[in-house]
Amino acid sequence: MSIFQMTKTVIRNLTGGPATRQYPAVPARRCPLTRGHVTIDPSTCRSCGLCSRRCPCEAIRIDKEEKVWEIDRMRCIACGDCVEGCPFGSLTMEPEYLPPVVEQCAAERHIITYVKPEKPEKKPAEESTQEEGAGESA
Ligand code: SF4
Ligand code: SF4
Repeated sequence: MSIFQMTKTVIRNLTGGPATRQYPAVPARRCPLTRGHVTIDPSTCRSCGLCSRRCPCEAIRIDKEEKVWEIDRMRCIACGDCVEGCPFGSLTMEPEYLPPVVEQCAAERHIITYVKPEKPEKKPAEESTQEEGAGESA
């Protein structure tokens, strides 16, 4: 390398600033296909268990009786197979990464549990008719 080239490189390095980003002060750039983490919409999940069977890491556990869908974030490799395999579109691969967990030894802290919400109970037709009648007379 000639003196001229070396000087050019040194000047460029001195004036160019860092090549890295000051994350997290400067947000990371993410493309739409970035695999960050899996999320679930419990209201559409039918507890069919397909996602659990497709997962190569056994990261998903489903309890049909309790209507619980559970993911172990420490097992998940964000391959996206469960998202592709869910027939009801309940799973989504979000591009954002989750914040790191400080207590690495407490494995249970990495397990995120979603409980399927109960459907609101419908009032019997008679009850609602009586209420309407009471409202009219008042
Ligand atoms: S993204 Fe892959 S590893 Fe993670 S839960 Fe889904 S199937 Fe399992
Ligand atoms: S998330 Fe989808 S594939 Fe998994 S149990 Fe629910 S409906 Fe089935």
